[in-house]
Amino acid sequence: MPGLNDIIGQDQIKEYFQRAIRQHNISHAYILTGEPGMGRKTMANAFAMTLLCESGEERPCSTCHSCRQFLTGNHPDVIRVHHEKPNSIGVDDVRDQIVNDVQIKPYSSQYKIYIVDEAEKMTVQAQNALLKTIEEPPSYAIILLVTANAEGFLPTILSRCITLKLKPLYDKAIQEYLEKNLQIDKTQAGICTSFARGNLGKAIRLASSEEFMTMRQEVTDLLKQVYRMSVLDMLETLKHIKDSGIDIRTCIDFMKLWYRDVLMFKATCDMNLLIFSDEFKSINEIANKSSFAGIEKILEGMDKAKVRLDANVNFDLTMELMLLTIKEN
Ligand SMILES: [Zn+2]
Repeated sequence: MPGLNDIIGQDQIKEYFQRAIRQHNISHAYILTGEPGMGRKTMANAFAMTLLCESGEERPCSTCHSCRQFLTGNHPDVIRVHHEKPNSIGVDDVRDQIVNDVQIKPYSSQYKIYIVDEAEKMTVQAQNALLKTIEEPPSYAIILLVTANAEGFLPTILSRCITLKLKPLYDKAIQEYLEKNLQIDKTQAGICTSFARGNLGKAIRLASSEEFMTMRQEVTDLLKQVYRMSVLDMLETLKHIKDSGIDIRTCIDFMKLWYRDVLMFKATCDMNLLIFSDEFKSINEIANKSSFAGIEKILEGMDKAKVRLDANVNFDLTMELMLLTIKEN
């Protein structure tokens, strides 16, 4: 479990929490919002662990009694609110686990920390029940609402919580993390980084997804053979990928990444700028055979295919049109 300092990026939120801890100026309710995979829960846990650590340092020591309890998931003053129904956190969940529980003093710490994951699932009644606790909390109570969508909260909840929004990371930070911490090769890390759009969790998931790897291999083989394969054979490959459960839009995005490399290489002749640097020979071949306008047309054709799929145009027809655009340009 990382401390605040070990979290990649999110400097503003980390500094905010560290300052709050240093100045003993902790609020009673926080909302941590951002896309799933951005590290909201990691942030909530790092803050809670740091706050409870007996060392009182900015970085949790990992060795004190409190840290050890926290790391084994047995800290009596950390309450992870759970819910029976998968899609809603009801008023009873909030009453039993927060409103009533908060009356009991902390067991061993200065604080009692409630972590509500998927907090947007709280019903209106549940939020109203929680409101009373947030309005008049005991001095030791801290409520962390973790959510992908803070807009679902009542204005009364929003106005009483400090909302902290996690931001997308820079590609460079994600690429480095994948290469250094997970020992993923440069090309693979580059592809996963492009797909993750600043979301480290998503990048890590992709990097370890076998389906994604298989898709990468099959589509790369197809793109390398683009001048030698017939449209029908290529269509068969795409159908096969679709049948294996991969979202064909992901597959198209992957193809776009390839052609962006072709465009980049044609413009710069610098193979160091390529994501697919290990497929340099194929990228070079396509860059030589296609014009700038042609590559633009191919990229547009891929966007068009996605629009057609969204509009439920027949799959085979949509793919054929896209493949023809690729071959003709
Ligand atoms: Zn500690």
